[in-house]
Amino acid sequence: MKETTKSECASCPALCCEGLTIDIKKPRDKEDVEILTWKLQYENVGVYILNKRWHLFVEGRCGYLGDNGLCTRYESRPDTCRRHNPPDCERFIDWYDTFFETPEELEQYMEKERRRLKRRRARKQKK
Ligand code: SF4
Ligand code: SF4
Repeated sequence: MKETTKSECASCPALCCEGLTIDIKKPRDKEDVEILTWKLQYENVGVYILNKRWHLFVEGRCGYLGDNGLCTRYESRPDTCRRHNPPDCERFIDWYDTFFETPEELEQYMEKERRRLKRRRARKQKK
């Protein structure tokens, strides 16, 4: 486990404590897309893809983040927070390849994917 680079975190507005990321499966069928579309109807909920992996993102402050931008339970913070360190964090890397904020954005992406897969299948059949 890496140690937190405190100097980099000290000068950061605690970006990693201002949103919750949940791993989800890539939507495979119409029902999956419908459920994800419904989740995207909520305020402060987004979906992103990073390295082909899908995640639900809920924007909001962790309850343990103090007004001074520091963790109020730093010594007993969860392992997931301990493992989240610079430079592999949202302050220093692009933390998503694609981000959907609205149901429409997801639907457009899925439509493009459907067309792409259709073209690929058609090319394979020609071979
Ligand atoms: S881990 Fe990264 S995002 Fe979180 S406080 Fe430190 S520098 Fe900021
Ligand atoms: S427990 Fe502390 S380090 Fe972890 S997200 Fe909350 S404020 Fe940030």
